[in-house]
Amino acid sequence: MSQQGYVAAPPYSQAQPGMGGYQGGFGTGPAQPLYGHYGGPPQAFTTPPAGMLKSPASSAAGMPPPPVSSQYSPNVQQNGAHPQSGYEYVMKVLKDSQCLSDNITIPTECCCVLSVAHQPFQTPPPPAMGQPQMLPGSQSLNMSPQMSSSQSPQASMSMTSPQMPGPPMAGVGRPFPGPPPPGPGGFQQPGPPGYPQQAGKSDPFGGHMAGPQPGMPGAFPGAPGSLAGPPQKKLDPDSIPSITQVIEDDQAKQGGQVLTTNIRGQVPPLVTTDFTVQDQGNASPRFIRCTTYCLPCTADLGKQCQVPLASIIKPFASLPKNETPLYVVSHGDTGPIRCNRCKAYMCPYMRFIDGGRRYQCGFCSCVNEVPVFYFQHLDHMGRRVDLYERPELSLGSYEFVATLDYCKNNKPPNPPAYIFMIDVSYNNIKSGLVKLICEELKTLLEKLPRYTQEDARQCSTRSVGFVTYNKVLHFYNVKSALAQPQMMVVSDTAEMFVPLLDGFLVNYQDSRAVIYNLLDQIPDMFADTNESETIFAPVIQAGVEAFKAAECSGKLFIFHSSMPTAEAPGKLKNRDDKKLVNTEKEKILFQPQKGVYEQLSKDCVAQGCCVDLFLFPSQYVDLATMADVPSHTGGSIYKYSNFQVETDGEHFLRDLRKDVQKSIGFDAVMRVRTSTGFRATDFFGAIHMNNTTDIEMAAVDCDKAVTVEFKHDDTLNEENGAFLQCALLYTTINGQRRLRIHNLSLNCSSQLLELYKSCETDSLINFFAKSAYRAILNQPLKNVREILVNQTAHMLACYRKNCASPSAASQLILPDAMKVFPVYMNSLMKTAPMLGSTELSTDDRAHQRLSVMAMGVEDTQLLLYPRLLPLHNMDVSSDILPAPVRCSEERLTDCGMFLLENGHSMFLWLGQAIPPDLIQSIFNVPSLCALPELDNVLSKKVRSIISGLLDKRPNSMKLQIVRQKDKPEMLFRQFLVEDKGLYSGASYMDFLCYVHREIRQLLT
Ligand SMILES: [Zn+2]
Repeated sequence: MSQQGYVAAPPYSQAQPGMGGYQGGFGTGPAQPLYGHYGGPPQAFTTPPAGMLKSPASSAAGMPPPPVSSQYSPNVQQNGAHPQSGYEYVMKVLKDSQCLSDNITIPTECCCVLSVAHQPFQTPPPPAMGQPQMLPGSQSLNMSPQMSSSQSPQASMSMTSPQMPGPPMAGVGRPFPGPPPPGPGGFQQPGPPGYPQQAGKSDPFGGHMAGPQPGMPGAFPGAPGSLAGPPQKKLDPDSIPSITQVIEDDQAKQGGQVLTTNIRGQVPPLVTTDFTVQDQGNASPRFIRCTTYCLPCTADLGKQCQVPLASIIKPFASLPKNETPLYVVSHGDTGPIRCNRCKAYMCPYMRFIDGGRRYQCGFCSCVNEVPVFYFQHLDHMGRRVDLYERPELSLGSYEFVATLDYCKNNKPPNPPAYIFMIDVSYNNIKSGLVKLICEELKTLLEKLPRYTQEDARQCSTRSVGFVTYNKVLHFYNVKSALAQPQMMVVSDTAEMFVPLLDGFLVNYQDSRAVIYNLLDQIPDMFADTNESETIFAPVIQAGVEAFKAAECSGKLFIFHSSMPTAEAPGKLKNRDDKKLVNTEKEKILFQPQKGVYEQLSKDCVAQGCCVDLFLFPSQYVDLATMADVPSHTGGSIYKYSNFQVETDGEHFLRDLRKDVQKSIGFDAVMRVRTSTGFRATDFFGAIHMNNTTDIEMAAVDCDKAVTVEFKHDDTLNEENGAFLQCALLYTTINGQRRLRIHNLSLNCSSQLLELYKSCETDSLINFFAKSAYRAILNQPLKNVREILVNQTAHMLACYRKNCASPSAASQLILPDAMKVFPVYMNSLMKTAPMLGSTELSTDDRAHQRLSVMAMGVEDTQLLLYPRLLPLHNMDVSSDILPAPVRCSEERLTDCGMFLLENGHSMFLWLGQAIPPDLIQSIFNVPSLCALPELDNVLSKKVRSIISGLLDKRPNSMKLQIVRQKDKPEMLFRQFLVEDKGLYSGASYMDFLCYVHREIRQLLT
């Protein structure tokens, strides 16, 4: 019985020998997992010990899937028969690995073995690169003594730090002599802006780590330095696990395929892989990804491995055009069918019994009566005959039309409105920003979210309103009947109110003429302003009041330039204090000012008022506080430091256009229900929590994700697995109240190996980034870094102890699914918020911290491991992007041209020896500050690659062109995350060695 029928359409349905993972809804129907993940569950273990792997895995016995790596396939088969499969398996791998004399990285189906020498840690002195040691039996590491010229500064730096006793701090070495020009920084902005603005001179970690004491953390960054061994001997960088390789391999293996979601606990392809999803009972990984798809059966087991159990939920994720949009189910006045006890919504995990008259809830096991109108007979398999006609019985994701019970005051909501609030103080007028915004709004308003097809008939356009402000607020009456817009000034900012109800929020289509008139006039009205003081909190308050009066939810677009210092609620003062950096009090820099803004967030959420903040600061503005409301209302924060229309205008407008057109839901409440045995305990995102279960979001758009952590409260059962259901109640852009449901089923196991095999590194790092970024609000950075390193070591040590076979202590063994985890972790610890460096702008750090909190897995993956594309030797006739290379200076070539992007910054790097004709065809020399539109294939190709990437990302990126050895190059270098950090922070290699040492400590 395969799971075809309802949605299945050729060719999708065919490949599935059906493997039902569901215990409940789908009785049988075993299917062959089309998508094994690395070493997919079943293959290695055909005869698991009793109690190990049930369902999907065991049924795979009859049909061994294609071996992932042919090289090791014999082992796989062989091991499969061994009762202690996992254990034995690694043994085999190790054995094989010994034959590979020239490559110590052994990517296998289940783990990666790496041998690293540790003497350097004990005998720090001669600064040099780590001294690798081969696995017993193998030798001859390929040294790569040659260093590119640009690299030497770093190398020589490590040579000069021999005085460090213990693990020295990395980051001491810095390739650049001088500080770069303090750029208009911005996490968004690539420009000279990048968050770090200057080269650091101090070694922030230095103090903590004297002594070889393995100490934790504070120490981490340094480890490396000491690792330095004689420069002539260094571990071949190609031998340590590579993210680009992992990405490439997954794309080769699963790219272009169809992922059918009918298997419980199925690990999806990587976020970077192109694949198509066919929903057959579990939510698409575009909506939900997990840190592991196999939960440990007990809390003890969970504690033992310290692998966080979490889901990253992006409820509004955009779907590619070739995937089916969510079905909308209406049960009329009755509303959705829910379990009487736990209130879970009807879904594929409900099991119909008693001839179809009753159903047992998959979450709480309560037996419920089936409402008469919903009754249906069961087939001989015990499944409802109408299974495939009902999305809520056969799909992982769908929507219900909500009844009045789900609406505020039992009244259907009004469609959400948009209010544009423009700071018209001196700076914004002078920079030309106000004029730019007003011009853009004319076309932008035409692009406001359109109705979905099914609603196309209900044609009415968005309600919009306009406010300008400096120390006072100006509301505009733009009623269609008026010949001229009218301005109403409110100067009493303490008791904010909206001076006009009729004519403020208007239908854009009806009032277009008056609105255009207003937009034309605004720049002139304030052209002579001298007012430089602004207010801020009252501006948001005004928006909330307007929505209240109109009884609707909506979004505020605030375009603001300076710290609000005018006498009014929410007035701020400069509290930036670099002396706090690297002290116990550093956390204060990240904490928002309490009081007014806290209350404002609550008011906004209660009204469904989302705030998007576009900041154009020329100095510190206390972003931590100003962005407090946006970051609790599902809003976005954009920052354009030292904004100039000519160089930043397009970048800003791209952001604004993207933002306005995002698909979005308003006035949302999300709840994550779980089956018995575990529950959601912690939540991270641009959200507000009034209690411990309801995730409130004034709005949630297609790029916002909520990360949810789970804890056990009982023992989980391998047979039953674990279910989660995410229900999002929200108001559509048309004003319809809906429930969006995402369901996911996971495996459970009492074998840690199963858990490790089902881990997803990209999700893990998303969780760690968010939990660390929240932790720095309350703890010193040093502690947080310690915790991160500890936990990394712990997870890996536990794997080694429980899942890998005994091996020489000099070998570092990484679970295959986590083999690049250390690169990401090291990169995370080198991000601006995590670095105690006085060279970094406080606002930029706060900005990045808040932005990451709302990111999904794709975004954190790219942020922590930028994409570096060689453009100098690509095939211009091909549509395929050049293969990315590792983010390390070693991968650059003097005569090359590389494009780097991380979703927020974008650089075009030009090598010193780049052929003149290449420059000529791209830039039409000598202009190197922007990409001109030239009529040749290379120029066109480069520009099309760039615009393709810009289209793909949630945010715009400003292209920054840097030449090798020029000062601004350091802005680019900070993104070479495998190298030693610019301010501090270890290289990937050093970090790996350091983690290895920690692991050894844990195991002794
Ligand atoms: Zn229930």
